[in-house]
Amino acid sequence: MSRAYNFSAGPATLPEPVLQQAQAEMLDWHGVGASIVELSHRGPEFMQVAQEAEADLRTLMSIPDDYAVLFLQGGATTQQALIALNFADPGQSADYVITGHWGKTALKQVKPYVNATVAANGEAGGFRDIPARGEWKLSDDAAYVHYTANETIHGVEFRDIPDVGSTPVFADFSSSIASEPLDVSRFGLIYAGAQKNLGPVGVAVVIVRRDLLERAGQPRAEILDYRAHVKGESMLNTPPTWNWYLAGLVFKWMIKEGGVAEFAKRNARKAAALYEVIDGSGGFYRNEVAAPVRSRMNVPFFLHDEALDKPFLKEAEAAGLISLKGHRALGGMRASIYNAMPEEGVQALAAFMRDFQQRNG
Ligand SMILES: *Cc1c(COP(=O)(O)O)cnc(C)c1O
Repeated sequence: MSRAYNFSAGPATLPEPVLQQAQAEMLDWHGVGASIVELSHRGPEFMQVAQEAEADLRTLMSIPDDYAVLFLQGGATTQQALIALNFADPGQSADYVITGHWGKTALKQVKPYVNATVAANGEAGGFRDIPARGEWKLSDDAAYVHYTANETIHGVEFRDIPDVGSTPVFADFSSSIASEPLDVSRFGLIYAGAQKNLGPVGVAVVIVRRDLLERAGQPRAEILDYRAHVKGESMLNTPPTWNWYLAGLVFKWMIKEGGVAEFAKRNARKAAALYEVIDGSGGFYRNEVAAPVRSRMNVPFFLHDEALDKPFLKEAEAAGLISLKGHRALGGMRASIYNAMPEEGVQALAAFMRDFQQRNG
């Protein structure tokens, strides 16, 4: 059996050593005679897994003590709705900066709960750039300002944290969390579904400044309440233990590989290699995103002739390069190159793209 280089946007490729460890521990975790996924979430074995995962993520991302870390179900999309319920009064303003598809879903999720105001929107320009900070229209009384750190479909990434004054910044980091050093203290809240950069689908990470948990928010059940989740250590109900465990293995792997500083370097090299092939192709390939905000994680690109899309995908697959088809909203191709994508995988793709152009250009 040979593993392909998998450029899927999410669920995405996982580090091979993590899959091997999970396989080795599948039937008998650490000699207890059962898989970790068969044990009580309140038993000493899983408690250890859960605590280590949180501690390792705190180490990896340098998360300050005045931030709580949650491991929750419902994916990123559920968190998009919960942030309004937990941190905004009914009908209060919340400012949204829309730079792609996921910013739009975030806005949609809070419409029933807040006066969601679009502070800036890149849609008129096809989401090929981020509206200049000077043009944003922020509300005076906003509960928070929300933005999407990396737009997974449109391939647009903020390369700095926007300064919005004293309003807490909430950000969707689903597809770029832990991909480079980040000053967590600049945020009120960070959330991410795990299935791009942190592990398997089925668990989402929420990092929230503790003082914000004092906000009343809106009427909601306990299971929708972040304060209760913090108090219950993300175990108000049965947590997704398998997913949490796998994410924990990914954190340990990342720390062993050198942490986020090391991944920042690898990710920069990987992205540069692909954009170089695209920009140097004389129009055979094209990426339309403004260079300063091109994503390091998701590289969407188009072939100059759509008739070549099918042969490109077929031949790539035959060469062991899979899941390159672009999102249906954009068409074309997309190479997702998260932390777990090795540099050799990107080099193989770059070589394939050059070769394909030579044969079809
Ligand atoms: C994938 C993704 C989401 C949606 O995540 P789910 O876990 O499917 O809810 C939201 N935001 C971004 C930036 C994403 O990449």
